[in-house]
Amino acid sequence: MSKIVFNFLYFSGINYFFRLLNEKKLVLLGYHSIVDLSKQNDYALELYPGLAVSKNHFENQISYLKEKGYVFLNFSDLELVKEGKMLTSKKSAIIYFDDGFRDIYFNAYPILKKYDARATIFLTIDFVNQNSASKSIVENAKTRNRKLDFSATPIYLSWRECALMKDIIEYGAHGVTHQKLNELGGQDLDREIQVSKNEIERNLNIRTTAFSYPHGRFNDVTEREIRKAGFLFSISTKYGANDIRELGRPLRKIIIGPEDDVKSLEVKLGAYYPLRTIALRLLGKNYG
Ligand SMILES: [Zn+2]
Repeated sequence: MSKIVFNFLYFSGINYFFRLLNEKKLVLLGYHSIVDLSKQNDYALELYPGLAVSKNHFENQISYLKEKGYVFLNFSDLELVKEGKMLTSKKSAIIYFDDGFRDIYFNAYPILKKYDARATIFLTIDFVNQNSASKSIVENAKTRNRKLDFSATPIYLSWRECALMKDIIEYGAHGVTHQKLNELGGQDLDREIQVSKNEIERNLNIRTTAFSYPHGRFNDVTEREIRKAGFLFSISTKYGANDIRELGRPLRKIIIGPEDDVKSLEVKLGAYYPLRTIALRLLGKNYG
């Protein structure tokens, strides 16, 4: 969406109205990498610029949420909410990171600590084991003639780094090989789901209950399989805020990208997704 539309929604009062409507809903704010722009030659800006949110934007967003009275939940809290053992405050947010980029440890974790916030990282097993990287990163490296040496310059968090952040970070699964689960079946599907759960639980000595679908892709079969494997929550390609009574379905998310400052975060918390849905319907496009 262009800056003009964002500004219009922000200043028109329409956004304020939608934010009030969304106040009792749970928002899942999805990030990938958090990058320090003061560091020249940062790997992130060369190989995955579309996924890298600046440290400054991230801090401003967390500070904004805190100031507005958002409570930062994790999936263990959500389990209690689902079982009716915990009441949510008026505004609640889950901050999460997909793929497990290593820069979260250096750039996001200190900020989360500073604001007394918590978050969830969704790990892809082959990435943590430093065996591979996501397809787009591998392709970018190839085009730029840059050799990927995972041991010399790790892109993703190691198990050790993950363990160091366990005081405020929970871990969820994001597959073994980062494939679209809706295109898999049988043993392949089973492996992506069950092995990712087992590996995280074994390596970090925790219980994991949330699954973030790689590329957001899912269908009825994947949903059935992840619940069978013991996951209680899933994150999908659906966008927007979540009704607290519907936590058993694939959860909706709000994706935060490199362009998003506090103002666009506010619009994404309010009018952006409801109006986007209406616009897409009017254009006859399918909307998840
Ligand atoms: Zn991913």
